[in-house]
Amino acid sequence: MRVTDEIKSRLDIVDLISETVSLRRSGRSYAGFCPFHPNTRTPAFFVFPETQTWRCFGACAEGGDIFSFVMKQNGWDFKEALQNLAKRAGVELQPRKPVDKKKKAREEKLTALLSAASDYFHQLFLHAPQAAVAREYIQKRGLTEQTIEAFQIGFALHSWDACRSHFNGQGYTDEDLLAVGLLTENPDKGTRYDRFRNRLLIPIRDVDGRTVGFGARTLEKDGIPKYLNSPQTVLFDKSRLLFGLDMARRHIREARQAVIVEGYMDVLQAWQAGFRNVIAQMGTALTEAQLRQLKRYTKTFVLALDADAAGMKATLRSLQVARETLDREVEVKFDAHGLVRHEGRLKADIRIVTLPEGQDPDDII
Ligand SMILES: [Zn+2]
Repeated sequence: MRVTDEIKSRLDIVDLISETVSLRRSGRSYAGFCPFHPNTRTPAFFVFPETQTWRCFGACAEGGDIFSFVMKQNGWDFKEALQNLAKRAGVELQPRKPVDKKKKAREEKLTALLSAASDYFHQLFLHAPQAAVAREYIQKRGLTEQTIEAFQIGFALHSWDACRSHFNGQGYTDEDLLAVGLLTENPDKGTRYDRFRNRLLIPIRDVDGRTVGFGARTLEKDGIPKYLNSPQTVLFDKSRLLFGLDMARRHIREARQAVIVEGYMDVLQAWQAGFRNVIAQMGTALTEAQLRQLKRYTKTFVLALDADAAGMKATLRSLQVARETLDREVEVKFDAHGLVRHEGRLKADIRIVTLPEGQDPDDII
């Protein structure tokens, strides 16, 4: 992640601007009087939490992100804005090295490879005779063509090198394939082979809709592991990703609520049933980075996790992370004796949906 993106992911534009401009919620945005031109009658200044931007529709007729806001407000240049906001966000600035350009080109190549892989697996799912078992599985789960298309459901052939030779033929090296986790290497023998074989593939996309990895479900009875994910790569950071957020973020904002489920299939089923504000955590519990991302869209979270022991444990862990991550405000209260008491209150609403024992959310929808 670029350092400016890292800073933006940690700071909320509404919080930042509210410190100096009085903002009032107005639909999906916030409105106030513009701090940059004489504006006292009709609020001309708007802040958009979804895109983390601001704009003055009055005399200024300009806008931007948190960086341009603090630059304009304080008369800073970009470097000063970067230093100040980095400090505020707790992000350490590294001196810019000339290798960065090379690194960026490398990431772009790997992103293109994953996008091509997503398409390759999807075409196999739709057309390969070998994929009949995958199509049958999806049909049994009741997923429609529209859902298959929206989530780009894929299939990996039952082969040790089909994916490898396909992409070698397209100019990608083994090193490229290893870097994105499509190829895996036996450290003792040094042999390389396709990571995903005879599996149903669900592309995992980042918040901007770029494929960064895959979740792969076995199609064999008692196949182990049931789900095989891409390994941690430069593009795939499980602790930051939320499955389905690219498609759900607009709906989370509209519904003012995010529903968090455990598995990819739960998200697909919910989406198909018309519940579009549903996302899945990627690991066993929500992480701080995931909650920080979500906080941009809503402050109400519903945890709809499995009722089994592991699910309960994950729920409790997620709650603990939420308490540590989310903002608190101090409320002044009077107790029964009329004494003043200060009480910390989480600036978020977290509800838990307990599902009947042994049932997954996707059994109920
Ligand atoms: Zn203005």
